[in-house]
Amino acid sequence: MDTKDLYKVLGVEKSASQDDIRRAYRKLARKYHPDANPEDPDAETRFKEVQQAYEILSNPEKRREYDRGPREYFGGGAGQGGRQPGGGAGGAGEASFSDLSDLFGGFGDIFGGRSGTQQQRRSASTKGDDVTVTVNLRFKDAFQGITTRVNAPAEESCGDCRGTGAAPGTAPRTCPDCGGSGMKNRDQGFFALSGTCSRCGGKGTVVEKPCPACSGRGRVRRVRQVTVKIPAGARDGMKIRVPGRGGSGTRGGPAGDLYVVTRVEEHPVFKRQGDDFVAEVPVSFVEAALGSEIAVPRPEGGTVKLRLAAGTQDGKQMRVRGAGAPRAKARGERGDLMVKIRLVVPEKLTKREKEILEALADERDEDVRERLFREAREAGA
Ligand SMILES: [Zn+2]
Ligand SMILES: [Zn+2]
Repeated sequence: MDTKDLYKVLGVEKSASQDDIRRAYRKLARKYHPDANPEDPDAETRFKEVQQAYEILSNPEKRREYDRGPREYFGGGAGQGGRQPGGGAGGAGEASFSDLSDLFGGFGDIFGGRSGTQQQRRSASTKGDDVTVTVNLRFKDAFQGITTRVNAPAEESCGDCRGTGAAPGTAPRTCPDCGGSGMKNRDQGFFALSGTCSRCGGKGTVVEKPCPACSGRGRVRRVRQVTVKIPAGARDGMKIRVPGRGGSGTRGGPAGDLYVVTRVEEHPVFKRQGDDFVAEVPVSFVEAALGSEIAVPRPEGGTVKLRLAAGTQDGKQMRVRGAGAPRAKARGERGDLMVKIRLVVPEKLTKREKEILEALADERDEDVRERLFREAREAGA
């Protein structure tokens, strides 16, 4: 076969963008697909040329190389038969295959045994599913960190049939309906109606006697116990990845990952805010007025002493450095504890307490709202 101009094969200009090339390819691939032209033996040849041209021109590196000088790109010619396209052009067939199924999306299957896509697809390994589970943690365990076990459901290859779906002692055999290609024409001459073989579901093989353990699916759902290390200072809603502990892959593909999402029990006193804890601390108005030393609980137990200045106001915040949650990103470091002062007013007074307070009121003879009125007056309408 002659050396062809790949741009002419796709019917695009030399300056065509990748999008133009992709569009042209898509159109021609549909037009010349062998399933769409069962009466025309040339269609298959054209189809292969189009595929090969696309393989080179859609790859910027190969395209540059091609642009540099003419080369014999269709060396294999018509004699290639069922060989993979690209085999004669430097053997980089794989890229075009994945592109092909990308392009055709749901129609990827139509390229049955003819182009080799089906074979590619069937032998491709796949990564196992990622699995997400939730773990409930007590405040203390989240604070200190804990190694715990979670139940992780995951799809695994069936051990009894080694994933084939065939009863032990038997093996899957080539599908008689599609001859192993996984594809079938439902309506001659109309390629859009060609699709996955319904008998084998596109696998190309059928199981005569299904494996009892997995009902022929080749996969079983198992719940495994997986050990997870929860870091000290874990927050509610944290996602911990345990690599490789999700569903197992197929045909040697890697296992998926397990994600453990934490649910941390809410603490009645310490509310999490970033790496800090916030706690509201009641203080009597006498303590606040006179000033005093008060004890405040620490999240991990024990107390911390705080010095209240005389005249401390309600809502005042005080920071206790290093008494917050352990920082996940900096080992050994902790956030702070934010103490919010809440003034407590006695609900009941004894007769003597009442007299003392009345005496105090006489003594102070103050108008605490004087400023309020003054400001309202000055700024008012
Ligand atoms: Zn099985
Ligand atoms: Zn079949």
